[in-house]
Amino acid sequence: MLTKIINPELVTKFKDWQKEYKQFVIIAHTNPDGDAIGSSLALYHYLKYLRKNVCVIMPNQFPDFLRWLPGADNIMNYDYYTDVANIKIADADVICCLDFNKLNRVDEMAEKIRESKAKKVLIDHHLDPEQFADIIISHPEQSSTCELLYRFLCDLGYYYKMNTIVATCIYTGMMTDTGGFTYNSNNPELFFIVSMLLQKHVDKDLVYRKVNYNFSASRLFLQGQVLSGMEVLPDYHTAILTLTREQQQKYHYSKGDSEGFVNIPLQIKDVIFTCFLREDTEKDIVKISLRSIGEFPCNVVAEEFNGGGHKNASGGELQKTDAKMASIRFKEVLEKYKSLLTECFNQHPK
Ligand code: 5GP
Ligand code: MN
Repeated sequence: MLTKIINPELVTKFKDWQKEYKQFVIIAHTNPDGDAIGSSLALYHYLKYLRKNVCVIMPNQFPDFLRWLPGADNIMNYDYYTDVANIKIADADVICCLDFNKLNRVDEMAEKIRESKAKKVLIDHHLDPEQFADIIISHPEQSSTCELLYRFLCDLGYYYKMNTIVATCIYTGMMTDTGGFTYNSNNPELFFIVSMLLQKHVDKDLVYRKVNYNFSASRLFLQGQVLSGMEVLPDYHTAILTLTREQQQKYHYSKGDSEGFVNIPLQIKDVIFTCFLREDTEKDIVKISLRSIGEFPCNVVAEEFNGGGHKNASGGELQKTDAKMASIRFKEVLEKYKSLLTECFNQHPK
């Protein structure tokens, strides 16, 4: 029923590694999201089922709204446990890299990964993968790494043995990376996979509530505050949101509290491009999140901010600045895209 998209030679190669090797490390990108954590944990449980020693390491803390995922307590934060993590990386037989395309997406961990003698496999859905891994399973047409991982696990012959825990981790990433199946989600096979996951007794309604109805009151107050500062630029079909360190302090911000804010202005009738500028709490940067609807390639804009990503969801950063200055800089860059924004909007008004 499912189209075979993964090169069978790569599946065979990984099968050989499964037989030969014992120590596995799984990593995903900095500021891990539902797809990064979901795919990492699904693979973790699969490798545990194969009786491997598995360590999941994230470059930094993951958001609280994913803490309920089975196995999340076993995730090592590279920021806190740098030394232990470095040993795990150096001693690994196989390092599985999930949901990122270039090693610079794992920050300080990148060099350790590069130096490690371990075999490396990359499973990802971002464009232009860096050729650092021995097995590269890169499918940008896939809605999420979790969808791709599902296909991979099936190719490995695991569907029959897959349990509710693994299915739930996969479903979570598929759901979050498509905004609850509201974008990148027109492929009928996506819903075939969802159906196969439901057969494994995933409680999809519960997953939705765990992810989306699990906020603190202060998060909602913070959202109100951020929205009240929204700047709408009708001539550019664009809206900008900002979040300062001061606001974060006032509303007891914790990692992930602003997840999803960037999508909200897309609810405005004539807006097809949104930008969210957040002063980072850990580094002296302003993190930029971009979203678009339709053909406007927000990843091209992200490249101007040392970033990248997908056509409709991308990000980058600005060094040594604040949200206000970043907003000014963003508007300067936006000027270049005015005609393209108008063209895209006129071609596909909402
Ligand atoms: P978010 O806005 O949720 O942080 O990121 C959305 C998407 O943009 C990510 O899935 C990733 O593909 C991309 N992205 C975000 N930040 C960066 C960055 O700093 N560099 C690159 N290359 N991509 C990023
Ligand atoms: Mn993803």
